[in-house]
Amino acid sequence: MSTQHDELVVHSPYDGTEVGRVPNGTGADVDAAVARALAAMQTAPLAQSERAAILDAAARRIGEEEERLGRTIAAEAAKPLKTARVEAQRAVSTFTFAAVEARKLAGEMVPIEASDVGAGKLAFTLQLPVGVVGGITPFNFPLNLVAHKVAPAIAAGCPIIVKPASQTPMSAFALRDLLYECGLPEAWYQVIAGKASEVGNALVDHPDVRLITFTGSVDVGWSIRERAARKKVGLELGNNAPVVIEPDGDWATAADKISVAGFSHAGQSCISTQRVYVHDDVADDFLAALVPKVEALVVGDPMNETTDVSALISTGDRDRVQEWVEEATAQGAEVLCGGKVEGNLLLPTVLANVTPDMRVCRDEVFGPVVAVQRYRDYEEALRLANDTRYGLQAAVFTADLAKAVRAARTLDYGGVLINEVPTWRADQMPYGGVRDSGNTREGPAYAVREMTETRLVVIQP
Ligand code: NAP
Repeated sequence: MSTQHDELVVHSPYDGTEVGRVPNGTGADVDAAVARALAAMQTAPLAQSERAAILDAAARRIGEEEERLGRTIAAEAAKPLKTARVEAQRAVSTFTFAAVEARKLAGEMVPIEASDVGAGKLAFTLQLPVGVVGGITPFNFPLNLVAHKVAPAIAAGCPIIVKPASQTPMSAFALRDLLYECGLPEAWYQVIAGKASEVGNALVDHPDVRLITFTGSVDVGWSIRERAARKKVGLELGNNAPVVIEPDGDWATAADKISVAGFSHAGQSCISTQRVYVHDDVADDFLAALVPKVEALVVGDPMNETTDVSALISTGDRDRVQEWVEEATAQGAEVLCGGKVEGNLLLPTVLANVTPDMRVCRDEVFGPVVAVQRYRDYEEALRLANDTRYGLQAAVFTADLAKAVRAARTLDYGGVLINEVPTWRADQMPYGGVRDSGNTREGPAYAVREMTETRLVVIQP
């Protein structure tokens, strides 16, 4: 990404070529957008039926434009085309479920006569739009994570202004154009790309922006939470997702799934499988199954149909991840495959003999690296999985129901998956973290609740 006059020039992370330009916004643009959004909300609110119809139309149009949107994602994020198309399909799902929420949104009756003072009264709640929403989004899902903010905002009746990641702003603009085509009045979804220190701060600081929904890194997220003490602030942040493989679990399926889940979009997913704890009894078999699959991943140009893994978002990130791998090997880890830079790519890497204090275990790698540690005792494995400041999703492979229930109750995460990788997500489920990983749940049903206020109405007839 670079700036030229009033344009932000977007470059392919894979080969550095220019892939597009978008307007480079300013703090003044944010002020104007907020004023437009507020006026629209006050003078021409969208009826629930209109919101639902627009969301349904958008889901249909995104589906029709899947190929074009997939190519935009692949170009700006270096996400391999086949996974970029999946992201576009997921955005269809996000809008479809948001349309359902727009239709269902309602308050509830309050049992006011259950106390003596309420005798003869009638009470109920209304769920009203919270106000203008500011969305700040990361580079790794430039379409569907914008969709997870925009679709619920529309369903809730809130105009939204999105500041997309500077490396990947084009998908947010493409979505905007589709929504306008579907009848969304322009004030209801505005995109302002630009410097985080200017556009991001202007959104966070604006008194008429009532809710900030942020997806991105831990430190930035919590600093926004502190900066915007009087707003609602929803944070979807980082993670270093663990998976525990018991000897009674289907370790072959686990190997198969992890060979994808650790390396999809070069590991740049907040729930990328990063830490693997495998029982000693099956560790050799598991690794013998995993490593050839990882070596067989096709590495290269994101625009090629066969590519599985492409470039990290920047050469700086490529070098950082390689440095962490080298540091781990200097501390005793063994590289079973990858570990090297080839051209501008870091090869998919499996490390064995890691220890919890290594950065590849302790921090969020956000790169194509899976770190494997053996264990003998299940309780110890659960303790290791919990030994982190993050808490987004975790997983266990076991055939034993008691162990599965023990994991569900013990793992301190927003989501616990049994016989599935922690990287699995469907767009309607409640998704979000505890501890440093965040403070909210996304998924249209949950995000719509966050984006509304409950108003109590009491009637004395
Ligand atoms: P990031 O550096 O935190 O950036 C995210 C967004 O915040 C970008 O739009 C960025 O703008 C903006 N920003 C940066 N500093 C800001 C500030 N001080 N005030 C306001 N806005 C600011 O994160 P990223 O590198 O794009 O994304 C990777 C991170 O996101 C990882 O940690 C990953 O785990 C997390 N993530 C979490 C989820 C989830 O649902 N939990 C999903 C996906 C990703 P610029 O681009 O202009 O800097």
